[in-house]
Amino acid sequence: MSETFTEELERLRAKLAAAEQALEAIRDGEADAILVPEDRGYRVFTLRGAEHPYRIFLEQMQEGAVALDRDGAIVYANRRTAEMLAAPLEKVMGSDLESWVAPASRSGFHAWLEQALAGAARCELDLIAMDGRLVPVCLSGRSPGGDEIPALCVVITDLTEPRRREEELRRQAELLAQARQELERQAAELARSNAELDQFASVLAHDLKEPLRAVLNYARLFEERCRDRLDARGERFLAHILAGAERLDRMIEGLLEFSRVTTRGRPLAPTDAEAVFRQACADLRALIEQTGASITHDPLPVVLADETQLLRVLENLLANALKFHGAEPPRVHVRAQRRQRHWVFAVSDNGVGIEPQEQERIFAPFQRGQAHADCPGDGLGLAIARRIVERHGGKIWVESTPGRGSTFYFSIPAAAEAVAHKAHHARAGHRPG
Ligand code: ADP
Repeated sequence: MSETFTEELERLRAKLAAAEQALEAIRDGEADAILVPEDRGYRVFTLRGAEHPYRIFLEQMQEGAVALDRDGAIVYANRRTAEMLAAPLEKVMGSDLESWVAPASRSGFHAWLEQALAGAARCELDLIAMDGRLVPVCLSGRSPGGDEIPALCVVITDLTEPRRREEELRRQAELLAQARQELERQAAELARSNAELDQFASVLAHDLKEPLRAVLNYARLFEERCRDRLDARGERFLAHILAGAERLDRMIEGLLEFSRVTTRGRPLAPTDAEAVFRQACADLRALIEQTGASITHDPLPVVLADETQLLRVLENLLANALKFHGAEPPRVHVRAQRRQRHWVFAVSDNGVGIEPQEQERIFAPFQRGQAHADCPGDGLGLAIARRIVERHGGKIWVESTPGRGSTFYFSIPAAAEAVAHKAHHARAGHRPG
């Protein structure tokens, strides 16, 4: 047992001596190949072979690499380092690394050098290139230890581009924050002025209504009690007074309704647009019968809406489609198409259509189509519809070919969870019963 142990010891000692000898030979530059015993004989590592890939790495990599002696002089530098410093390689070799460090970074550099020589260290600082440009870099140094030359191997990472990107990001974030602040300010301002306007409209409507009521009441009383004392002209005058006062009354009502879209709106909740559509048709029954209209619809979805307001929008669009009909009896079709988080409703008619130059204007309060001055209405319906749709975060617009018909579109947010439960019905017709 102890014999085998002694033999094993001897064998290991011989191996160690051989290894030490090989190392010594490498250090002195005497060896140019090492033989390493393997299972099937020896494998030859030439030193050129061992070093070659590392040289390629060093010369090809996008990082600077320098080797320093104990005094900080550069004994080796790769091409990338020279590029970074905008200097010829021969000027970099042999120079002190410190001479390339920006004055403001020198004390940091000394601390880093001391720490790196003792083992390893990283730091970020500025170098000065030969053309005077400051080059932000990260120095990452590792000492091989002992009295080796080089005393320190350093990888230099150019931070110019990352810093530029950081700076750009920071600038963009700042711009974004500014824009958001501005937007918040504008939103607050808008909300304030909206509230003020609503208040103004509502006060105006109430205060206007009172004297108007008096005019209307006395005019009606006058008509009732004094009609027989009036001649034909007097009757005509009185009819004008009454018609004017009644129109003013309707306009004030409309104005009130317009202002109440935001002040009296109810919270948005899942609402079955098909049920609302049916209600609208029922409310318009007289007009449908009178015009001989047919109204058809595709299955309609559940949306996130204030039910009363959705009814108002549908009713208004349907009433317009019936009112502004052409020679043929009105044919109206209602459908809805999902577009991301909204449903876009479409109300199409075969009516008189709208001239292109009027297609935007008709959504403003009190704006009516040129050709429809004699049709009943005050030009507030679409303005109210737009206000309602916008309160729901949607949009309303029209596409029309004059003489052929119009399609009014409006978008309303989908009630995601409720939509899935809605079965697909066949295309259904609706005629008043
Ligand atoms: P009103 O119906 O009281 O005139 P609206 O605001 O509802 O007010 O409509 C504004 C104008 O838009 C109408 O006077 C008419 O000229 C035009 N318009 C609206 N709907 C249609 C339609 N379906 N077809 C043709 N013109 C329309």
